[in-house]
Amino acid sequence: MNRRTVALICVIVVVVLTSIALTGCGKRLIGKDQEIKLGQDAGDDFEGKYGRESDPRLTALVSTIGADIERSAEPPDYPYDYRVLADDTTNAVAFPGGRVYIFRGMIKALNNDRDKIAWVLGHETTHVARQHAVRRIERQLGYEAIIALIFRKKNAARIASAVGGLVLMDYGRDNEYEADRMGMLYAHNAGYDPTAAVAVLQTFQEIQGREPNDFEIMFATHPGNQDRINHARNYIKQMGWSGQY
Ligand SMILES: [Zn+2]
Repeated sequence: MNRRTVALICVIVVVVLTSIALTGCGKRLIGKDQEIKLGQDAGDDFEGKYGRESDPRLTALVSTIGADIERSAEPPDYPYDYRVLADDTTNAVAFPGGRVYIFRGMIKALNNDRDKIAWVLGHETTHVARQHAVRRIERQLGYEAIIALIFRKKNAARIASAVGGLVLMDYGRDNEYEADRMGMLYAHNAGYDPTAAVAVLQTFQEIQGREPNDFEIMFATHPGNQDRINHARNYIKQMGWSGQY
C-alpha cells in the first residue's frame, strides 16, 4: 500500500466512526424551547380529539400526584403538565417537553389508587426526561416537519396529528424497561409505594386477556407483559424495596 492509499483509508475510517458516534449518541436536532413548544402544540391537537376531563376529583388527583412526581424527576427541568382526557381507553401518553396525558379509563382501571397512578405518571415522565419522546419524533418526522409545526406552516395540522399518532406507539423494549424502572424510582422518591408497578402490570395483563381488541395501551405493543412484570420484580428486589402490592 502506498502512502496515499493509507491516508485515504484513514479518512474513510474517521468519517465512518464519526457518523456512527453521532447516530449512536442520538444527536439532537432541536433545542429545549422548541421541544417544549412542539409538545404543547401537538398536545393541544391531541386533546382536541378526546376532550379534557371535567370531573374535578380526577383532575385534582392527577395534578397532585403529577406535582409530586415532577419534584422527584431528574433534570433537565421541563414544565411538566399532567392532564386527564375524557375518554375510557386504558392509556397514558407523553409529549416532548413535559405534557403528559392520562386517560380517564386508566384511572378507573386502577381504581383511583394513588400509588398505581404515581407509577404510570412516573413511567410517562421518564419518556420526557430521558428524551425518548422527542428523539423518536426527530427520527421519524425530521427537522423540517418539526419546524413547520412550531412555526405553524400550512401543513402544521397534519404534522401535529402525526405526532399524536407516534405518542400512541411504544418506544421499543429498552426505553420501555427504562421507563418502568425510572417510573418506580420517581414514585418511590416522591413518597409512593413503587411496588404498585407490579400490580398495574398485572391489571394490564388481565384487561388484555379479557378485551384484547380494546386494549390500546401504553402497553399493547410494549414488551410482553410477563417480561415486564419479571423485570419490575427484579428491580424492586435489587433496590431492596418492600411494599403492599
Ligand atoms: Zn412507555
